[in-house]
Amino acid sequence: MPKEQAKRTKLVIGNWKMHGRLVENAVLLQAVAAGAATLQKGVRTGVCVPAPYLAQAQALLGGSLAAWGVQDISAHVQGAYTGEVAAGMAADFGATFAVVGHSERRAYHCEHSDLVAVKALRALEAGLTPIVCVGETLEQRDNGSTEQVVGTQLEAVLLMLSEEQATKIVVAYEPVWAIGTGKSATTEQAQQVHAFLRAQLASKGAAVANVPVLYGGSVKPENAEELFAQQDIDGGLIGGASLKSNDFLAICQAAQNGSV
Ligand code: PEP
Repeated sequence: MPKEQAKRTKLVIGNWKMHGRLVENAVLLQAVAAGAATLQKGVRTGVCVPAPYLAQAQALLGGSLAAWGVQDISAHVQGAYTGEVAAGMAADFGATFAVVGHSERRAYHCEHSDLVAVKALRALEAGLTPIVCVGETLEQRDNGSTEQVVGTQLEAVLLMLSEEQATKIVVAYEPVWAIGTGKSATTEQAQQVHAFLRAQLASKGAAVANVPVLYGGSVKPENAEELFAQQDIDGGLIGGASLKSNDFLAICQAAQNGSV
């Protein structure tokens, strides 16, 4: 394994999306807490749950080695923004992570990169780690603009943050055409974009180059190890497979295999 890769901790984060109910969540969270205890130091895990279940995540994951977080936060600190959840509110429930700029938010809620950048800043101000999602559509990939698209998305966030703040983010490369489709990027496709993103991070400062860059898009137990073995892939943001404890924990295990 390349030396550079071994230095960075692997991170496997579940994104439950709008799934779950109290009873089934409890089973899943308990399994994640138990599974996290079996992971070695080089791997961290956590789940980003729907906001109403933050208290449940805190109750069942608190004291375990698994972290929890939310899938979106408001760009505002507080105020008359009906239905929104502030970063500070998630922090009140012990959250570590806030996903920002997920492609489903960009597509269904018209979130543009400047708004995503403000959300990343709000997360950091509240002590949360923003997981900044970037990714191209199939059409953009086919017309050769993948790097231009993900580069512009990441640049908006890097421009908003100081160098010191930028060292505290996580980036997730999630090709839109691979999310929830069962069609993952090949390891070569993913590594190529990750290397590009890593270089862009490095241009913000040497320490920024080492922020985790996760891959997301139909990661499964069968393809996780090969993806995570790539030099610039530091783990995964896992959607569908994070709803099945066996699959999610097998993916965490795959990260462990790639980290030692
Ligand atoms: C996601 O929702 O971020 C995701 C990567 O989904 P899936 O793993 O289901 O493709």
